[in-house]
Amino acid sequence: MPLDEYRKKRKFEISPEPAGSSDTSTPSKGRSIYVIQKHRATQLHYDFRLEFNGVLMSWAVPKGPSPDPTVKRLAMQVEDHPLEYANFEGVIPGGEYGGGTVMVWDNGEWEPEVDDVAAALKKGDLKFTLHGKKLRGSWVLVRTRGFGSKADKSWLLIKHRDKYASTADIEEEQPRSVLSQRLLADVAREEGGDVEKAATGDPKEGARPSARKATQKATSKNRLKR
Ligand code: MN
Repeated sequence: MPLDEYRKKRKFEISPEPAGSSDTSTPSKGRSIYVIQKHRATQLHYDFRLEFNGVLMSWAVPKGPSPDPTVKRLAMQVEDHPLEYANFEGVIPGGEYGGGTVMVWDNGEWEPEVDDVAAALKKGDLKFTLHGKKLRGSWVLVRTRGFGSKADKSWLLIKHRDKYASTADIEEEQPRSVLSQRLLADVAREEGGDVEKAATGDPKEGARPSARKATQKATSKNRLKR
């Protein structure tokens, strides 16, 4: 059963996460779900998920994806998640598996650039196109050599060169939920989570330009000129 590991790790009477439907046999037509959840658990990470065979195949990306083709981001494959998980945004209670705040950081659809996804996954080289709100264009997941028991779980997520490639720090520049426009601290505050811990996953105050600060800067600059 594809979701056994997912269910074994969670107590659904305590965590608001979806248990998932037992029927994972419905084949999806055409494009499939793509979602990235920003997750302030023990360590901040970005859960990268692609719908395949009725579940969300999942990788935890500690630093998040980079649109810069020269940057390779470690992606540790984790247990498959139910399709319903794609809309989950909220707080997993402390002490539970993955305890912390979750936001839907990006979503949309994905398309494989290969005919046989199962074969590409087995080979450890999956090329695909993302149609997200933040991430677009061509990407690849390549299996790499990991250590010990995680040896076959270690992948790299890399952007291909195309018109969507850039050197922007998207985690810093676009920190909000695509579902609710909230920051992690907002999600924690509104859903009974640890606001202080969640806030450590948001960009630092002043690190990103806000309209008000930009105006103040412009004003003082103009004053200096006069
Ligand atoms: Mn996670």
